[in-house]
Amino acid sequence: MGVTPSESQGVILTCDLLTFSDLRSLSRDVHDCRRCPLGFSRTHAVPGVGPENARIMIVGEAPGQNEDLQGEPFVGAAGKLLDQLLRGIGLSRGDVFITNILKCRPPGNRDPQPAEAEACSPYLEQQLRLIKPEVVLVLGRHALARLLPGYESISRLHGKVVVKDGVSYIPVYHPAAALYNSFLMGPLEQDFKAVKAHLDRVEERRQVAAAAATPVPKPEEQLTLFG
Ligand code: URA
Repeated sequence: MGVTPSESQGVILTCDLLTFSDLRSLSRDVHDCRRCPLGFSRTHAVPGVGPENARIMIVGEAPGQNEDLQGEPFVGAAGKLLDQLLRGIGLSRGDVFITNILKCRPPGNRDPQPAEAEACSPYLEQQLRLIKPEVVLVLGRHALARLLPGYESISRLHGKVVVKDGVSYIPVYHPAAALYNSFLMGPLEQDFKAVKAHLDRVEERRQVAAAAATPVPKPEEQLTLFG
């Protein structure tokens, strides 16, 4: 990006307008990114994984140690729980696009700083633009603050559907939070049941719309069809 570590390590660049034609070029840019100091401390950037046409997008907080080492989101303990929750509602990783608010690990897994989230936000915006998901699962309070600013807290909003710009956002507790606080495990499982109920409703509506769009054959056509 035309800046060297020595001159930019403490600098956060926020105002670039980024557009990408596909996820691959976006990922390349993330791997080269030095828009904030995390770009200098990471091992690997973690842009996200999943199909470009995914109907469901999952947005977490930031890569942890395992993700930083492997360059993939949700590959540690929280990832295993996420996989299990997805399986529980009939989905697998291959069905969803998974990413984070921050594409690089904050040292010691500290909370993302607002300026880092701001510097990284064009990537998430572009991922949303390219993937055009029908449903976005918002994992935890940091993703909630970024994707639905001004809305209620995660403890009030988890498991509810918020429609914004034609996209359904469903905030759920972060799997890592449930691993640390076992009392959140039940509510997190309930959240995923709410996600499944929403996906079932969407599918039902899609089938009704498809049936309504299928032309009904005229009586004479029916006669030819059946003898
Ligand atoms: N791993 C990630 O990739 N994101 C999180 O938010 C937590 C763990």
